[in-house]
Amino acid sequence: MLSARAAVCKLPTYHPPLAGRDGLRLDFNENTVGCSPRVSERLRSIGTEDLARYPEREPVEAVVAGYLGVKPNELLLTNGVDEAIHLVCETYLEPDDEVLIVVPTFSMYGIFAAAPGARIINIPAGVNFSFPLHTILRHITAATRLIAIANPNNPTGTAATEEELIRIAESAPDAAVLVDEAYFEFHGRTVSGGWQQFPNLFVARTFSKAYGLAGLRAGVLLGNALQMSAVRKVASPYNVNSVALACLPEALDDAAYVNDYVSGVCEGRERLQGELQQLGVPFWPSRANFVLLRMGDANRAFIAAMREHGILVRDRSRDPGCEDCVRITLGSPEQTDQLLTVLREVLSEIGILRQEARP
Ligand code: PMP
Repeated sequence: MLSARAAVCKLPTYHPPLAGRDGLRLDFNENTVGCSPRVSERLRSIGTEDLARYPEREPVEAVVAGYLGVKPNELLLTNGVDEAIHLVCETYLEPDDEVLIVVPTFSMYGIFAAAPGARIINIPAGVNFSFPLHTILRHITAATRLIAIANPNNPTGTAATEEELIRIAESAPDAAVLVDEAYFEFHGRTVSGGWQQFPNLFVARTFSKAYGLAGLRAGVLLGNALQMSAVRKVASPYNVNSVALACLPEALDDAAYVNDYVSGVCEGRERLQGELQQLGVPFWPSRANFVLLRMGDANRAFIAAMREHGILVRDRSRDPGCEDCVRITLGSPEQTDQLLTVLREVLSEIGILRQEARP
């Protein structure tokens, strides 16, 4: 009987968002109001002739490279950051290579790195999910071939500094250091360009979050031109579909739309964190479009009650170090108003709103 490779058999199954996500979607860190109207307009103009042709990635790569201030040969458009991670693993990992991952974090690093048979070394985050720079440095060996870091991190929202990330790239010259900046727009800090000095450094960005295009599947992998030419060899020439390619320049052109959305989210993040502090609910200050909080024993009741009130939030209690934790995505200011109202109602309902915090 045909069987999958041993490394594949051992992989966990990722559970993507499922049908039944009715309500305010504060569960998957998506944009909650949708993309720029200019993108919608472009979508409406796509005809059968456009769909009959194979997609042409290169001209759009030139536009995106210009926007990001990099050379076109330092960039590859990908089918979301997911594919960027997959391609980096495919390009560099041999069986038994070592891969360092800081946990808790985004689960696809472990999955894509384990598939070719690499050994995953999970490095626990420091106190309060701080970035464990020195533990990472201590674990770098001659066998280390990939170090994957989400910055800001998902699900904690915490971030490493540029100096820390560069120090890692410098300390592991034989490893690909992938800095996943999927939440860049909400943080505003980057190591992009660092590959000029450290050619093992890669940066990934996405159009799924701030730009509101998660369904189109478009991301970017950035890195040293020579390394990128290797990565490009293992990518399908048609990895990004023509609808996504048609929309990306429009999305980039409407910077005002994205900036406005991002500032609403960041303002909401501060409001939510202020409210949690007042309510006495422990949380970790976030640099992304979500906040991780510890609900304690009431976690499951909280998630169910939020759903009852029309708001979806994500249970993260199975992530290492996140027992009894839930992650809440921020949306527009109006959606944050709704969130804060429902939050107080639900905490009161499930009996964990402290008396003095009641309105
Ligand atoms: N990286 C991180 C850190 C994420 O949280 C996510 C989405 N949850 C992704 C990558 C996936 O991004 P994309 O939609 O571009 O594949």
